[in-house]
Amino acid sequence: MDVVFGPVPSRRLGRSLGVNNIPDKICTYACVYCQIGATLRMYSERKEFYEPVEIYQAVKSRVENSEKVDYITFVPDGEPTIDRNLGKTAAMLKSLGKVAVITNSSLIYREDVRNDLLNFDYVSLKLDAITPRIWKKVNRPYRELVLGDILEAMLDFRKEFRGKVVTETMLVGDINYDGELEKLAEFIGELKPDISYISIPTRPPAEHWVHAPDEKIIAKAHALFSQKVKTELLIGYEGNEFATTGNFEQDIMSITAVHPMREEAVLALLHKCNESQEKLKEMIRDGKLIKVDYDGETYYMRALPSRKYMVKEGAR
Ligand code: SF4
Repeated sequence: MDVVFGPVPSRRLGRSLGVNNIPDKICTYACVYCQIGATLRMYSERKEFYEPVEIYQAVKSRVENSEKVDYITFVPDGEPTIDRNLGKTAAMLKSLGKVAVITNSSLIYREDVRNDLLNFDYVSLKLDAITPRIWKKVNRPYRELVLGDILEAMLDFRKEFRGKVVTETMLVGDINYDGELEKLAEFIGELKPDISYISIPTRPPAEHWVHAPDEKIIAKAHALFSQKVKTELLIGYEGNEFATTGNFEQDIMSITAVHPMREEAVLALLHKCNESQEKLKEMIRDGKLIKVDYDGETYYMRALPSRKYMVKEGAR
């Protein structure tokens, strides 16, 4: 695997030039849904892998030979903060463009990691669970890690960091989320990320039993999180919540790729596109949309084509 890949299109980051600063696959977690596969080496200690100048040269050459790069993004085959040179490398790369990192947040309790993350323009923090039982089941953390310390450090980091912070919460089928989505929403409300993303397994996962959760769980999480902060879905489709082509089917599919739509908004869109409710019923019959009731509201969501995984942009 090259140290640099792309640029690749990303809904979150535009044209993103990937930096793979961790050799395959060293992580502090062994998430059941990891698309890279089983964790080969688990560390909680930081190590040096590549010389910052080596990464800088590779990125520089790619930036100079690419049309446009919106973000230089650390999204390696493992956890980027294990790299002891992360902050130094990010600081060097800033002369070439904006830098982003997709981290699992597990080492953020370390002051040196928080200081490294301050060098970035965009930090994506994984937040899959508040309850240790679910965290252990889904993320399967290195034994020395303590979830309470991580959550506390995320809040500390948020207060100090001036760039863009997003959270990414992966929801997995067959996990008992009773009470957990409310706790996640509470924490997200306190953290105040610029956007909270909800994702589902979209690529072949590390464990064969992993699949997407029920649409009701996704709709509930979206409703709860969006009471606190701007919340979007990453469910394996590219969407554009502002899409208005005048074609009802195209527009609703695009919008619901980003978030479930309330019934009144769907009816307004039908009206705007000069379509009758028959069109909506037809899309439900064809398995393109589903209707979900949550907390006295009716929502329409994109139907997930399979209880297994799908292929598209997703979390690592
Ligand atoms: S999904 Fe990310 S954090 Fe989880 S095991 Fe894979 S690389 Fe590590």
